[in-house]
Parts: sequence; structure tokens; C-alpha cells
Amino acid sequence: MRLGRQRVSVAERFNEKTQRSETGCWLWTGAVGPSGYGRIAVGGAGNGHTGAHRVSYELNVGPIPEGVFVLHHCDNRRCVRPDHLFLGSHQDNVRDMVEKGRNHRPAILDISGQRFGRLVAIEPVATAHHGATWRCTCDCGAETTTRVSRLRGGITKSCGCLKREVLEANRRSRSAPPHEVSR
Ligand SMILES: [Zn+2]
Ligand SMILES: [Zn+2]
Repeated sequence: MRLGRQRVSVAERFNEKTQRSETGCWLWTGAVGPSGYGRIAVGGAGNGHTGAHRVSYELNVGPIPEGVFVLHHCDNRRCVRPDHLFLGSHQDNVRDMVEKGRNHRPAILDISGQRFGRLVAIEPVATAHHGATWRCTCDCGAETTTRVSRLRGGITKSCGCLKREVLEANRRSRSAPPHEVSR
């Protein structure tokens, strides 16, 4: 890092680059990283930058334990106002994002109890942007999981037993007299 930077303390530079907005947030006017968080040079290892909101927390509230995230009450990543910040784990960060809808989790189409061929949808077990994966019971008694798009598109109609039966029938039709498969 450049020596000149050390003459101005982190706290001074922090205050210079902080602007109080009408919404109550303190907006970081310095550099912003690709994830949308303000960046501030603090020196040290690597490129010596860290999140401006983290610096705000340490300057105004106290030290951040290792591995702990500084999260925003206001959902404004550029905000560095200390009382808009709180500590949380990575899990808290993910849960917070889900609750605030930042990751645009799609609403689950409810197909529970609906029949698709031999399958009856029971419950969703996973979600993704292309649709939920559902646990289904098959008429043969087995359970399987498949994507809602495959069920509704008629691509998946059984746990796999239907395909096995067709293959078995084809095998027998090649090796046995025709009347045995035309039951
Ligand atoms: Zn804020
Ligand atoms: Zn089956």
C-alpha cells in the first residue's frame, strides 16, 4: 500500500465518503465492489480493501468476530449507518436474502395430490428457478422425485416401472410368440 494513505486515518476517510441520505441510510460514496457493497482501503495483506459497512461497524459499534457477517436491516448494501447493521452468520445472511426476496425465489406451483400417469405428487422437496422437484408415489408402491416440468410435460409418468415393463414387453415380443405380449 502507499504510505500517503496512512497519514489519513481510516475513520477520517470513512467520514469523508459517507453521505446521509433522506431515507435515513448513510450512503457510501467511495468505491463499490461487484457485490454492491462499499469498499474502503485499510492496508495490510492482499489489496488491503474491505467492506465499508464492516469498517463502519468496527468504528462505531465494535470488533467483528472472525467468520461473522455484517448484515443490513435496510437491505441497502451501500448503506454504512451503524444502526442499520447487525452481526450474523452465513446462514443468517442466506435466510435474510430469502426473506427479503433478493434471490427471487419462485413461488411453488402446488400440484400436491395431482396424478401424472402412475405418479401422484406428494410434496415439493427442492426448488430451483426452473421449477420445484416433487416427491411422488407410484402406483407400484415405489417413491420417486422428479421436476414439476417433467410431470406436467408428460415426460415422467412413473418411478421407472413403466419403462421397465415396456422394455420387458419388447424383449419378450422378440423372443416369444406374439400372442403372449398382446394380452
Ligand atoms: Zn441503511
Ligand atoms: Zn412404479
